[in-house]
Amino acid sequence: MNGALAPSAVIGILGGGQLGRMLAMAAAQIGYRCHIFAPQGRAVAADVAVSRTTAAFEDEPALARFAEACDVLTYEFENVPTAPLLALGLADKVRPGVKALDISQSRIAEKSFFRDLGARTAPFAFVEDAATLKEAIAAIGAPAILKTDRMGYDGKGQARITDGGDAPRGWESIGRQPAVMEGFVTFEDEFSVILVRAADGEIRFWDSTRNVHEDGILRRSLWPAGDVVEAQIADARALAGKAAEALDAIGVLTFEFFATADGPLFNECAPRVHNSGHWTIEGAVTSQFENHIRAIAGLPLGACATVGTRIEMSNLIGEQINDSAAILADPAAHLHHYGKADARPGRKMGHVTKLYF
Ligand code: AMP
Repeated sequence: MNGALAPSAVIGILGGGQLGRMLAMAAAQIGYRCHIFAPQGRAVAADVAVSRTTAAFEDEPALARFAEACDVLTYEFENVPTAPLLALGLADKVRPGVKALDISQSRIAEKSFFRDLGARTAPFAFVEDAATLKEAIAAIGAPAILKTDRMGYDGKGQARITDGGDAPRGWESIGRQPAVMEGFVTFEDEFSVILVRAADGEIRFWDSTRNVHEDGILRRSLWPAGDVVEAQIADARALAGKAAEALDAIGVLTFEFFATADGPLFNECAPRVHNSGHWTIEGAVTSQFENHIRAIAGLPLGACATVGTRIEMSNLIGEQINDSAAILADPAAHLHHYGKADARPGRKMGHVTKLYF
């Protein structure tokens, strides 16, 4: 792609969930049309896009036709397999990039990559059989968390190990898959750094929020983030910027950190827009979704400055989505309903951002 994408160009999005839906809405605002590629089933992003391909991510002929119909490709789901994209020679068309996808799909690859860049991480060890499980618990000690190396999200694929003797049971509970044994971190707060990198290498950061998780799922993002987080943002940004350059990424990347007594400790990276940045739709001059589209389209970036004096984003999980009218009775509230049909417990159904001036 040379220069900026022309208006009415087609942006292909791999994945059909709420992140794709909010990306497609931002793309439409600046004149682009989106084509969603998603496997069988309801894809809420397709409700607000001009076309949809229904196929498995491994279906190379379908992927080739999709890529041919799009001017640039991006993804809203970091577990899109990279082998078919590489086999079809699509690496240059995919943004933020295939390397970023590859690294973030394996917790071991990701932690090793960030440690090599100078990040502090929780102590970790790879587990692939009974012998390495034993070695890992001996090296890391309890308490620890055992996480599947691949395909984990929202606290899924994780087992808490409170006592070394529990390790075999914990590994059983995550299906005896290749995993990472991670030391349990004592932290004061959690926060994320979200940045956008343009095609010319310029990087901009949004303010960081303090993120509150329950059962491994993000519940709330709060800004201002408080003194503990504020004091650690500069170091965390330095690492995030270095990683974005090393990955040669174009678009939005998210980095999650624990704020500990010894400074920021890297937890994980999502090479995409992120739940902890949903507040930017109303709370920043330019949202993470719009700036991602601008970056991948080769347009100038918008300002990331925060609007207002206090912001609170809360996820609406499961049945909480049914309280729309009560939520909107608060004039500070902006409701985002993802259009999902089935309000299963633990499922992200929407979010609400409250903005105070
Ligand atoms: P993750 O899927 O790695 O982002 O984990 C989800 C959430 O579980 C994190 O946001 C933390 O709240 C918690 N968590 C994950 N890893 C650790 C750890 N090593 N020590 C303490 N809490 C953790």
